[in-house]
Amino acid sequence: MASHIVGYPRMGPKRELKFALESFWDGKSSAEDLQAVAADLRSSIWKQMAEAGIKYIPSNTFSYYDQVLDTTTMLGAVPPRYNWNGGEIGFDTYFSMARGNASVPAMEMTKWFDTNYHFIVPELGPEVTFSYASHKAVNEYKEAKALGVDTVPVFVGPVSYLLLSKPAKGVEKTFDLLSLLDKILPIYKEVITELKAAGATWIQFDEATLVKDLEAHQLAAFTKAYTELESACSGINVLVATYFADIPADAFKVLTTLPGVAGYTFDLVRGEQTLDLIKSSFPSGKYLFAGIVDGRNIWANDLAGSLSVLESLESIVGKDKLVVSTSSSLQHTAVDLVNETKLDDEIKSWLAFAAQKVVEVSALAKALAGQKDDAFFAANAAAQASRKCSPRVNNEAVQKAAAALRGSDHRRATNVSARLEAQQKKLNLPILPTTTIGSFPQTIELRRVRREYKAKKISEEDYVKAIKEEIYKVVQLQEELDIDVLVHGEPERNDMVEYFGEQLSGFAFTANGWVQSYGSRCVKPPIIYGDVSRPKAMTVFWSTMAQEMTKRPMKGMLTGPVTILNWSFVRNDQPRFETCYQIALAIKDEVEDLEKAGITVIQIDEAALREGLPLRKAEHAFYLDWAVHSFRITNVGVEDSTQIHTHMCYSNFNDIIHSIINMDADVITIENSRSDEKLLSVFREGVKYGAGIGPGVYDIHSPRIPSMEEIHDRVNKMLAVLETNILWVNPDCGLKTRKYHEVKPALENMVTAAKKLRAAL
Ligand code: GLN
Ligand code: ZN
Repeated sequence: MASHIVGYPRMGPKRELKFALESFWDGKSSAEDLQAVAADLRSSIWKQMAEAGIKYIPSNTFSYYDQVLDTTTMLGAVPPRYNWNGGEIGFDTYFSMARGNASVPAMEMTKWFDTNYHFIVPELGPEVTFSYASHKAVNEYKEAKALGVDTVPVFVGPVSYLLLSKPAKGVEKTFDLLSLLDKILPIYKEVITELKAAGATWIQFDEATLVKDLEAHQLAAFTKAYTELESACSGINVLVATYFADIPADAFKVLTTLPGVAGYTFDLVRGEQTLDLIKSSFPSGKYLFAGIVDGRNIWANDLAGSLSVLESLESIVGKDKLVVSTSSSLQHTAVDLVNETKLDDEIKSWLAFAAQKVVEVSALAKALAGQKDDAFFAANAAAQASRKCSPRVNNEAVQKAAAALRGSDHRRATNVSARLEAQQKKLNLPILPTTTIGSFPQTIELRRVRREYKAKKISEEDYVKAIKEEIYKVVQLQEELDIDVLVHGEPERNDMVEYFGEQLSGFAFTANGWVQSYGSRCVKPPIIYGDVSRPKAMTVFWSTMAQEMTKRPMKGMLTGPVTILNWSFVRNDQPRFETCYQIALAIKDEVEDLEKAGITVIQIDEAALREGLPLRKAEHAFYLDWAVHSFRITNVGVEDSTQIHTHMCYSNFNDIIHSIINMDADVITIENSRSDEKLLSVFREGVKYGAGIGPGVYDIHSPRIPSMEEIHDRVNKMLAVLETNILWVNPDCGLKTRKYHEVKPALENMVTAAKKLRAAL
């Protein structure tokens, strides 16, 4: 029985690639140094998989930045502004596209399906010429082979590549990306021919766009592409990989009838209906790569359960055609549990990171082949059982309270206009009130204080004193700037999810559980392992301290339940909504404590609400329903006169506008500066709804200081669409990553613009 891994994290168990990249970018080390680190990482991964007994080991899943950018490079599809002159593409051009250079900004980045990984979006227009401009895949295949490991080179499939691209500037509305298929396939063929010559016997094309709801002409492109590739692929086995969701029935049909394809991978963790499709209509003679080990999470596999699913599949596809695999690339999970020093042994026994998942895949394959490692399976079963009944996981009171929420509705009793009126009586704000989103610049000194307090190097007293001083500075600054609704600046927070997770029970934190977000950037999601509760108030101390420093309203600042959920590794032993409701109840207690303590404006950030949207449209309504419900639960208990804000870091929510309105917040601040027109319809809906709206008036992601005129102009344009009395004036997002010398003049210009507009109204 064979085993396969869809893809593997490239960053290294201790983020070796990150440090090597950043040192190279800073000019502190050479290209050779970087290449040496990369080669070491690749070889250790290949050897590790070979030693675990994996049969189909991936190559070309390593990347210096991003696998989609690698494909762009392979195809020579460099946008003209990077001045590439042909030949093999080197680091210069590659990293310029990824990160920009002194004269040209980077290419756009966007989220890879519903993960937190970002890829570099190819820009393709009718003028683009393709050429075989990076031999990376072939070189890596040969490199592995020289180490004695025969690998399966992995590529972003040609159709998914085009479907993930965007039309170049100027042809946005008119250009049909799929029309480029005929032009990119010859390059794919060249690569395949070289790989065959080098001895490759399998090749993997990742075509995960197949799990989206594609139109008929998009599906037809797959048939066209693989028909075209068929002859080039004779003599090599083609594997087409899908992942992240159930595959729709029409896509399944197209996929399983592609000419010249030997096998397919399916995500059997997220996909629940895919199994039925396989059982009813899997083509005979093809290989089924069954993705049964979760690539998106950190939980140990239920080996006994998986084994019985695999056994049922064996009878359908045949013993020699079933391959045990991961549900997706392991790129989206943490790297190696071995490096976890912070987690206790019990929690560790419940987990499997990428390195452990490789062993699980292999153990399942061996068990199917009649070589079951009984000790390994027994230990796994014991861990599964201990997790199920552990008192650390189960909190009956929390379970009951969350279960009671199901099927019910929670809404504030009065409508938003009446509430805004009650709030205005208390707050007495000018029209076009100004505010900021929460964080102020985090200086090196501030980070040092937090780090030293965590490491118990400074006393609690010194820590509180330092944070208090910082809050005071931020409050003073906002008063000087004459901002209307103040924030405390979040100096005590390292991260908007971690800060709350650390104070809630049911959360665990890793030392090295990093997952690549983009380029050299990684995130370390908390692990939600148990029922969530709030042992004590989390933010009241700092918020009331800040409120006491000023007569102006001070916003209480919380992260919402959906965002905490979507930016964590979530338990897989209950539905996501259940966990979300539990978090919502904990945040609800915090909201009410803030209100009791005299905080009259409370912002509940839902920065990640949209990114939790399932890939399949059929699942959207259900998700939005419980997500929005969870948000409403947090503030259903407050007085009319308490003003609830929410903030969202995106603006492309045309498709979810009704859900945003359904959140029933009093004021919504959103990112806006990069996509004006799109927001118009959102604004109009907002007018009907009556809530306050604060579309960001300048981009905080850039060090550029916006002028007063520019902001004035922007707000004026918004006023053409929006009623004066609902518009707020604020930046796009928190100011955490900016410097004070940028923030001060920017906010000054923002306040001056608001005042000027008020005077003219
Ligand atoms: N309140 C948070 C901040 O200002 C919001 C961050 C976010 O939306 N990503 O930093
Ligand atoms: Zn934001």
